Order: sequence, then C-alpha cells, then structure tokens
Amino acid sequence: MATNLKAVRGTRDLLPPETDLWQKAEATARSVFARYGFGEIRTPIMEDTQLFARGVGEETDIVSKEMYTWEDRARAQSEKAQSLTLRPENTAGVVRAYIEHKLGETGQLQKLFYIGPQFRRERPQKGRYRQFYQIGAEVIGAPSSGSESPLRDAEVLEMLATLLNELGITDWTLQLNSVGSSSDRPRYVEALKAALQPVKAQLCADCQRRAETNPLRVLDCKVPEDQPIIATLPQIADYLDTESKAHFAAVLAALDACGVKYTLNPRLVRGLDYYTRTTFEFLMETGLGTQNALLGGGRYDGLSEMLGGPKAPGIGFAMGEDRLVLTLQALNAEAAAQKLDAYIAPMGEAQNPYALALAKELRTAGLRVDMGDGSFRLKKSFEAADKVARRIVIVGEDEASTGVLTVKTFASGEQTKVTRAELISTLKSL
Ligand code: AMP
Repeated sequence: MATNLKAVRGTRDLLPPETDLWQKAEATARSVFARYGFGEIRTPIMEDTQLFARGVGEETDIVSKEMYTWEDRARAQSEKAQSLTLRPENTAGVVRAYIEHKLGETGQLQKLFYIGPQFRRERPQKGRYRQFYQIGAEVIGAPSSGSESPLRDAEVLEMLATLLNELGITDWTLQLNSVGSSSDRPRYVEALKAALQPVKAQLCADCQRRAETNPLRVLDCKVPEDQPIIATLPQIADYLDTESKAHFAAVLAALDACGVKYTLNPRLVRGLDYYTRTTFEFLMETGLGTQNALLGGGRYDGLSEMLGGPKAPGIGFAMGEDRLVLTLQALNAEAAAQKLDAYIAPMGEAQNPYALALAKELRTAGLRVDMGDGSFRLKKSFEAADKVARRIVIVGEDEASTGVLTVKTFASGEQTKVTRAELISTLKSL
C-alpha cells in the first residue's frame, strides 16, 4: 500500500541539530532547578479523564474542546472500561501523584519539576502544536511546610527570571495579578455576573454561555469586538480581602528585593480554573509572533482538595519548551555545534574490523568518533570526514599491520604519521 504516512497534524519530528538546542534548554533548566532544590517527577502521559474535568475545569477551553479522550476497553472481566485522556497539562497529574503517594505526610515542602509532552487539540500554527512540550515546576505541601508563603511565589518567579537570563533571553515581561482566594472569588464572580447581565447580548456566543457557566472565563476571551466591553467589567483587585491583599503585597515586596521587574495586569486570570491568588505570565517581545506567552502559572491553593486530597497549597508554572526553542532560535543561539574528534576511514573492506576495534578503543577513551566504510574511495572518505569531524584517521593495509596511522587535521591541513600508542593523545590535543 503506497500511502504517504506523515506525522499527524499539529505534531512534528524534532531532528538534529535542532534537538541540540532542546537539550541545551533542558540542561540549563535542570541545572537551575537543582540549585533551587527541585527534584524531577515523571507522571504518566495518560490519566483518568476525571482528573482534568475536576482539576482543570469542565468549562475551560482545554477540557471542553481540546482534550484527546477515549474510552479505553476493559481487557478482562476484572477490569472496567475507563475514559482516559492524554494529559493537556501536568499540574493536575503532579497533584494527583502528591495525593496518591501521601507526599503531604512527609511534612516537607515538595519542590518538583517535570519536562515532557502535553496534548491539546488546538488549531496548529507557529508556536502552537497539538503535541507540545512543557518544562514546569510545582512547589506544594501541607500548610505547615510553608507552602502558602508569598516567599514561595517570589522564589518561583525569581527562579524563572534567572533561568531565562542564563539562557540569554532578556526581552521578557512578567505580567502579574492576584485572582484572590477561594473566599474572594465567589464575591467577585457574583459581581462579574451582575455586570455581565446587561451587556451579555453584545458579546460573542462563547462569552454569552460563559457569562452563565463560568464568568471568569469571559476575561480570557480573545475576540477583538468583545474587548471594549470586557474593559468595563469589575476588576478582581477590588474584591480581594485583607489577607489576599497582604499576600500579594508580600510577593511584590520580595520581587522588588531581588530586582525582578513585573507589570501588574488586573485581567490576567489564565485559562485554568484551579488558580488562586498569584497568577502570572512571561510574555516575549520578539521571536514568538502572536503566540507570545512563553510561560504561565500561578498559585492553586484548593486544587488538592478539589481532587479529593488534603489541604495542600501550591504554586507552579509551565513553560512552553517549543516556544522557548523558537525564542532561542530567534536569538541565533546555537548549542555549541561540536565536531567529532575523529573520523576513521578504512581503506578497503578488509580494514573494517580493525576500524571498528579502533573506534571502540577511542570511544572508550572518551573521544567522539565516527567511521566511514572500506568500500568508500579516499576522496569520499575525506569529504565525509571534513563535514563531521576535526580529523581523519586513515586505516590502510600497512597502517593496520604496522600500527602507524595517518592523521590529517582539517583546520591546519597538517598530515602526520602517528603510532597507535600516541593516537589518543594526538586526537585529544587541539
Ligand atoms: P498553559 O498550560 O495553558 O498555562 O500554558 C503554559 C505554556 O505552555 C504557554 O505559555 C505556552 O508557552 C505553552 N503552550 C500551551 N499550549 C501550547 C500549544 N498548543 N503549543 C505550544 N505551546 C503551548
């Protein structure tokens, strides 16, 4: 059957050398996370659909339109069919794991990071994919572990500023808001509902529905015609109680103390239902076009309880790794493209076994090595070697028997005879 099989719409293959940049981003993130005391968590890519329905929220775009959900058949009498979903985000999975493994009972603050694919059936465009990757972290724990402290919000934000700066990304703006606690929120939502009643009919169809089911989501609306009306709606800042106000003020004070710049955005509610108090996004000036949100996050003090767990306040973020790499590419960042140390060129197929044994020895010594093949002509070996390696090591019939090899360094054009004993130190020299 001659069908043309291609990667599914909205998914893509990542190939070298681009993957070098992905590795650089991940290595930098891992190094920063380690310095801030985070450990890695890996949760499954599929979860019970209920996790996202309850955690992320039925009315969010993610849950109502974008999830890859299927009915998973039971394979045995003892199993039940189950609705499963490819994770559209990772916070719900981390909190599920926190509850399942009773991490709260350790009494310690949990600082966890993850790196992995997420799935949303969105309309694909530059910087928006159906399989995309997130680098994220969560700080969560029982209230006695200090998990509610505004210091944690500021620490996470300062860590993000440090991570971006270490990657050479400087033209970001941090937008910050507080969406209030679970007691502030209902008062605000009531006020929002009341304010929406008289203007509802002028909004888009989605917002007319949201005005009834989940008025906060109206603030996320991207329809241009709706914006002038949205601008007149009440602001959450006016509905925060004293504690929430003090919490937010303490976050800002800690950010000021370590010189992290931010802009307050009273409309930043973010597209997920679980957020409380601090919410934030890092937006990019350049490189990302319309999909300019590099990362987003916030506090989710009630999420564990929404999922049937103990009280476990937390704060976290998710950075779009695809967008991070696009940003790095726009900055012309390159993961130091390192050529191999040597390319071994056997002259004749009889030399192939010797060439492989030599390659093994050099690789064991820590050198980066590739090989040609005895069927290649000398010219072809030189051309292939020059593309990928700093030096070529020629293995002719004589060389294999005498143990004296010909080594050419491409940068200088110098060609020398080297004994096998000297070879490793020669290849390690610059
Ligand atoms: P969210 O989980 O919606 O808060 O998104 C956090 C970050 O993930 C965003 O700021 C984006 O950088 C990234 N992101 C979300 N959805 C996509 C997508 N469909 N394609 C690529 N990146 C995405």
